[in-house]
Amino acid sequence: MPTLFERIISGEIPSDQIYQDEVCVAFRDIDPKAPTHVLVVPRKPVRSLDDDLDAALAGHLLVVANKMAQQEQLSNGYRVVINCGEDGGQSVDHLHVHVLGGRALDWPPG
Ligand code: AMP
Repeated sequence: MPTLFERIISGEIPSDQIYQDEVCVAFRDIDPKAPTHVLVVPRKPVRSLDDDLDAALAGHLLVVANKMAQQEQLSNGYRVVINCGEDGGQSVDHLHVHVLGGRALDWPPG
């Protein structure tokens, strides 16, 4: 059974995609938690950060997260988040990197 994000990547479910390469895609979160809220998602359906994660893939996702921040002109700063597992608040079992910006973000998170 494909994950929600696999279905988005395949185009079966529409998304506001802003970037793609051979390894990952980035699209706007459907329920944004900040003025800019982008998800960077690997094409490979890795379940979470707890999965058998390839270092090159993990690094690539962070490089693209930074690229998205620049593309979205988050020059005043931004936050990169990976929720992992139940306590981490992960709701979609397909690894994804949140890029949030456009306002001052509280710390610590709730
Ligand atoms: P997480 O809670 O860390 O697993 O993040 C999952 C994110 O996916 C949430 O911020 C959701 O708002 C977002 N999301 C769920 N469905 C969609 C969708 N169809 N298109 C874009 N983002 C989505």
